[in-house]
Amino acid sequence: MPNSLRIQNVMVTSGKLSDTDFLIGMDIITLGDFSVTNLNGKTTFSFRYPSCETINYVEQAKRIQRKNLEKQLKAIQKNLRKKVKCPCGSGRQFRYCHGKEQIKKIEEELEKIGV
Ligand SMILES: [Zn+2]
Repeated sequence: MPNSLRIQNVMVTSGKLSDTDFLIGMDIITLGDFSVTNLNGKTTFSFRYPSCETINYVEQAKRIQRKNLEKQLKAIQKNLRKKVKCPCGSGRQFRYCHGKEQIKKIEEELEKIGV
C-alpha cells in the first residue's frame, strides 16, 4: 500500500484511478478513515489507519449555511436601522413593512439548522 501503511491479513491494491470501477470492503473501511472527493473533476480516494478525525459533510454544510444566514440577518438588521424603503414596492419603510418578517424567517431557518 502507498505511504508504507501496513494492515495485516488484508489484501490491498493501489493504482491510477481513471475509468476504473473498484470495490472496497467494509472490513477495510471500518479500520480507519476513508474518503472520496471530487474537487474540480479530480477524484481522490484516501485512506488512513488508525482513524484520527471525524469528517462530517452535513455538519460542514450546516456551518456554511449558518454563516450565510447570519450574514443576511446582519444586512437586514442594518437596513432596519436605516430609513430604507421596502423592496416589495409598497412605498413603506422596510422596517414597517417586510423587515421584521424577513428577520423572523431567517431566525427560524437558523433554529432549524441548530448548532
Ligand atoms: Zn414590504
